Amino acid sequence: METLKNHPKDELLAAYAAGSLPLSQALCISVHLEHCTECTQNLHQLHQLGSELMLSLQPAKPSPKLKDKLFDQIDQILINAATTEKVTLPTNEANHSLPRCLHQFIKTGYEDISWKRLSSDIYSYELCRDQNNAKVELLRIKPGGTSGTHTHMGDEYTVILEGSFSDESGFYQQGDFLVKNSLDKHTPVATIDKDCICLAVTEAPIQLTGFFGRMLNPLIRRSYA
Ligand SMILES: [Zn+2]
Repeated sequence: METLKNHPKDELLAAYAAGSLPLSQALCISVHLEHCTECTQNLHQLHQLGSELMLSLQPAKPSPKLKDKLFDQIDQILINAATTEKVTLPTNEANHSLPRCLHQFIKTGYEDISWKRLSSDIYSYELCRDQNNAKVELLRIKPGGTSGTHTHMGDEYTVILEGSFSDESGFYQQGDFLVKNSLDKHTPVATIDKDCICLAVTEAPIQLTGFFGRMLNPLIRRSYA
């Protein structure tokens, strides 16, 4: 693991620890955790704190009916676990650099994905939609390419999977975690050595700025629907 400069805020990590985040945001944090020792340690401390809080609570006495129901459910879980075949994740060379939590979406590697061309510099691949309709996708920017100056109509969560990029606020490398909102206007530019691949969660389409950007915005909104 490397030392990173861009982490989820404490309240976001606490919500992750409590299991209260939408799945799309939790996925971004899971990817970040695979690269970040600091947040992994903080998460461990939050779990410990949560356990201590639970232990300090006065236990309520369950009704006999509820107790029977719980034991029945536990029995069922144990029976299912005994009969479920173990699934092993693919471990071939191609997906070596894929975060473990993305294996359910990408079976082999980034090269085998049917990327959709958005511009001469940008390709995308939609992984899924969250319950709140947030779009979960991979974005691939060519070396030295840019997504153009844009603002956001909702929150945008990004984790760098491969390569790196910079914008007006700094330089971001593999594992870095960013949140941009409607007040942020930025121009990401990938570094020239390799493609930059990111996991992005957007709650609404981005808004390109400038004359040509404004002409493209209806197309972007259509691709989001
Ligand atoms: Zn971190």
